[in-house]
Amino acid sequence: MSTLVVTGAQWGDEGKGKVVDVLAAEADMVVRFAGGNNAGHTLVLDDTKLVTHLVPSGCRYPGTGCLLAAGMVIDPFVLREEVETLRSHGLLQGDELKVAYDAHVVMPYHRELDGLREEARARGRFPVGTTRRGIGPAYESKVGRRGVRIRDLFDRDALLARMEADLAVVEPERRALGASAAVDAAALADEVARASAWLEPYACDVGELVDDAVKAGRNVLFEGAQGALLDVDFGTYPFVTSSNTTAGGVCTGVGIGPGAIGEVWGITKAYTTRVGRGPFPTRAEPDAEARIREAGGEYGATTGRPRDCGWLDLPALRYAARINGYTGLCVTKIDVLARIPAPKVCVAYEDGARPGTVPFSQVRPVLADLEGWDAPDLADRVAAARSIESLPAPVRAYLDRIEEAVAVPVVLVSTGADRAQTFRLRDPFVEGR
Ligand code: GDP
Repeated sequence: MSTLVVTGAQWGDEGKGKVVDVLAAEADMVVRFAGGNNAGHTLVLDDTKLVTHLVPSGCRYPGTGCLLAAGMVIDPFVLREEVETLRSHGLLQGDELKVAYDAHVVMPYHRELDGLREEARARGRFPVGTTRRGIGPAYESKVGRRGVRIRDLFDRDALLARMEADLAVVEPERRALGASAAVDAAALADEVARASAWLEPYACDVGELVDDAVKAGRNVLFEGAQGALLDVDFGTYPFVTSSNTTAGGVCTGVGIGPGAIGEVWGITKAYTTRVGRGPFPTRAEPDAEARIREAGGEYGATTGRPRDCGWLDLPALRYAARINGYTGLCVTKIDVLARIPAPKVCVAYEDGARPGTVPFSQVRPVLADLEGWDAPDLADRVAAARSIESLPAPVRAYLDRIEEAVAVPVVLVSTGADRAQTFRLRDPFVEGR
């Protein structure tokens, strides 16, 4: 068995796309286990930039399985468009793609409801900002036992029956939020069934495929979406996503036992960012925040919205390590701190407050000064480093400090946006773990 789970250790945007892309080169299959098209990865193929939201990053490697497991919610229109684009670039030409029968479907009315709620939110009625892709409403339908699953897409009568059960609950809210006409369920069932027919040959029991691969000793990479602090159970509730983003979500989202999990790597930036509302104890002072934002290009990938920026929160990272069971940490964007004079790190919370036992919003960080590496020669050395030894001493000291505080070894370091600016300290796929 050689399996690796990779999850974001903060609030998302940790640079997972690049890290997973690099690790996927050695994987036989890459499996997404939660979330939907609220995630996004940019693949650079020759000179073309392609963004995938549903298909895992393994898609750049022909022959590597790209599996969408049952814990996901899938918008069939978005998936169709994404697969068409990838195919037009010569990818997914074989039988790489697999979609779980039991994954749930994001219906057009889920998307609409998300938008209507967001407009109501702007008027002060809902507390959580969302990406308006229908992810939250689709998960609500799933847990409410009225959702549409991938398997229903290929049986028009079953599809209509599922939709009617769902709309019985959704319709009154649509109307209350200002939707003008009722959804024409029969017409929509026809449209969705037509748009999904191509998918039927790829629909299967993904859990079984993964189990077979694990037992055969293949390299299986489980790709997380968002970050640990957005986990619906263990994140900064209610400012969270609708699924389990942490490693436990692999078992429930794929349908495999915990014994199938080998390594669990968490990705963290060398600092912290946050989008949307919710607590952020280590947010930096305005000047430092602006510097981090500019140096790190911290603007939302789809919205262009500036992200809130601050110092690395070691207690929160330790918490993420606990709820994921991290065996390794991947630290990204250490080159960005090279452009920040007088960087800091949060080593504790005041009054001994601990994350997980108190709401994050009520904690005040204890910050320590770091020996910076903002001299031009040091910044150049960071960007060029391909081994831990070639990093300047203050960077190595920072990585040591992270390891010690979190009690998890640093296994991968990213020193720039380029894929080549990554080095590993340990093999990701270890036979026998
Ligand atoms: P994700 O949302 O966690 O998947 O994050 P992405 O993979 O989309 O990464 C966000 C951005 O950070 C992308 O533009 C990456 O190219 C960039 N990036 C990733 N790692 C590094 C790094 O080590 N240094 C710098 N400067 N940029 C990086």
